[in-house]
Amino acid sequence: MKSLNMKRDWLYQKYILEKMSTYEIASIYKYSQKAVYNWLIKFGIKPRTKSQAQILLPRRYNKPIKIHLLGYVLEFRPSHPNGDKHGYVLQHRLVMEKYLGRHLSSEEVIHHKNEMVYDNKIENLELFNSKREHLAFHLKKANRIK
Ligand SMILES: [Zn+2]
Repeated sequence: MKSLNMKRDWLYQKYILEKMSTYEIASIYKYSQKAVYNWLIKFGIKPRTKSQAQILLPRRYNKPIKIHLLGYVLEFRPSHPNGDKHGYVLQHRLVMEKYLGRHLSSEEVIHHKNEMVYDNKIENLELFNSKREHLAFHLKKANRIK
């Protein structure tokens, strides 16, 4: 009985607290995945649904921040409604959203005033309502320089 409780605590630690998957527990500790699953049921630990498991999966393997090839900073925000399929959101959009207190629409574009796309201080960001407005702004600026 004692060893059974220990096993429950151990499994609870791995599965619930450390958020390991049944697959990971099985492969690291050399059990079958079915055995791990059966223990969860036996010990009254509720197995995660497939969608709950999918949300957790990238959280462990994805970096919290990564830099795009073009210099844009991306933050890993799996719960954000407008993230890419890997759960990343452009940081300058997050900064503007925090400032505005709302999510940006897909139409809205953020311009970097100093042209440094990794400089995401709010003072460096400007909101345009559409790609067209943003483009018009750049054309006007280019014409001024000529
Ligand atoms: Zn711009």
